[in-house]
Amino acid sequence: MSLATAASVAVGSLCSPRSRIKGSAFQPRMAVRYDSVKSTNLSSVTQILTNFQNQCATPLPVLRHVADSMSNDMRAGLAFDGGSDLKMIFSYVDFLPTGNEKGMFYALDLGGTNFRVMRVQLGGMDQRVIATDAVQVSIPRELMFGTCEGLFDFIAFGLAKFAEKETGAYQHPQGRKKELGFTFSFPVNQTSIDSGILMNWTKGFAVSGTVCDPQISVGRNVVACLNEAMQRQGLDMQVSALVNDAVGTLAGAKYWDNDVMVAVILGTGTNACYVERMDAIPKLPIQNTQSETTIINTEWGAFSTGLPLTEFDEKMDAESMNPGEQIFEKTISGMYLGEIVRRVLLEMAVAGSLFGGSIPDKLQTPFSLGTPHICAMQQDTSNNLDAVGSILFNEAGVKSNTGARKIVLEVCDTVAKRGGRLAGAGIVGILQKMEEDVKGLIFGKRTVVAMDGGLYENYPQYRSYLHDSVTELLGPSLSEKIVIEHSKDSSGIGAALLAAANSKFRHDF
Ligand code: ADP
Ligand code: MG
Repeated sequence: MSLATAASVAVGSLCSPRSRIKGSAFQPRMAVRYDSVKSTNLSSVTQILTNFQNQCATPLPVLRHVADSMSNDMRAGLAFDGGSDLKMIFSYVDFLPTGNEKGMFYALDLGGTNFRVMRVQLGGMDQRVIATDAVQVSIPRELMFGTCEGLFDFIAFGLAKFAEKETGAYQHPQGRKKELGFTFSFPVNQTSIDSGILMNWTKGFAVSGTVCDPQISVGRNVVACLNEAMQRQGLDMQVSALVNDAVGTLAGAKYWDNDVMVAVILGTGTNACYVERMDAIPKLPIQNTQSETTIINTEWGAFSTGLPLTEFDEKMDAESMNPGEQIFEKTISGMYLGEIVRRVLLEMAVAGSLFGGSIPDKLQTPFSLGTPHICAMQQDTSNNLDAVGSILFNEAGVKSNTGARKIVLEVCDTVAKRGGRLAGAGIVGILQKMEEDVKGLIFGKRTVVAMDGGLYENYPQYRSYLHDSVTELLGPSLSEKIVIEHSKDSSGIGAALLAAANSKFRHDF
């Protein structure tokens, strides 16, 4: 499956400019010499580091407690609405794509940093995915705090520009409205496959309802918001399926591999979904379906039981746009890891003069250090850690010696390790819950967990901590058949497939 990404219409970005730095592609701009006057109080810095490492530690008993709590909270959330932190949202995706889907469909993914538009030509069982074409657009920061109309008009405009350029590989029947699978990666109370009410914004978004309505646009049907914006653009397209990003990933990955049972997103935010049996969902709405299974969107970013948290996490949460909410997300996802590191470094600079007494504004600015930066620092294997020094200088405004850089790397590693290992424990919690319900459903046979998202994709240390934690929890024999694999951009194909499966014109093909 190849994805040709057309030129990006970059007009801004959630975390700009740091979100454009990708893994090893990052090149230090200059080497920095350390020449500050005040000497570091090493014992004070070491003490902050040791305390932080101890509080972040995830030995096996902690991981096991988190995995067990995830299973328990899933059950409680399935029992009744409000039963736990986990919303366990019914996706209305009972029938996964069969492979027979045919025709041209669009997919739109509104994540956190970007939105992506994709066009997919499906050729049925023999030809499967004939062609795909995609474009990615950064979301200007001001639109995250603007109006609902402003955000959706911007998206519909990008969509209309992309839709104008259909080429020979794509055949759309004359006179038939174009159809779209809409991946919306925020908590939505799904009311049918093509409608859903926004429950709350996450990942730093706070979009208001209308110009004259100061209320946050929670409670709006996000499909109506998009359909109306497409109409305003004169775009002859409609939403056929509303899909969460994890659900789209599961549908897309399962199209190629039937052993996929769970999908996990680790990007700006985080989420997970899995295949659940209808009779294991006590709160199930009355269903007119023949299917024995459905996909449950856990919204696991809201999980909070038994997590090893520190004073730095607590302060970051208290100062966030959604205090007390999305605690798992704030501990393991890409939006927050760099910010936790920055907070620890600031404390080390203030209390222990880690950077020679200098405490520049940049180091004091929330989110100045992004997760891509801490990832890039961890890839530096040079003796003097020159790349670490440059990133610290460029992003946090501090000069550092090799000793200070080594401490910074310890902090980065502590945060990545805790995040990756807790994400792994969450995955085991889901697998465990499924296995407890039906013995032999998961363990002892090949089971695939489809992973996607910029954090998982680009941060090798985080990824291996996650894998290690799953192996540690399950043991060598059970973990051998659990395949955790990157399923890049499955969510786009998945959303297009679900639009096809739910097409208003499906009887035509
Ligand atoms: P979204 O979650 O917004 O849909 P992505 O899945 O592309 O988008 O994830 C983007 C996020 O992934 C960024 O906000 C950042 O936190 C993380 N990320 C991107 N590149 C890297 C990198 N090189 N190293 C670590 N994290 C990264
Ligand atoms: Mg996404």
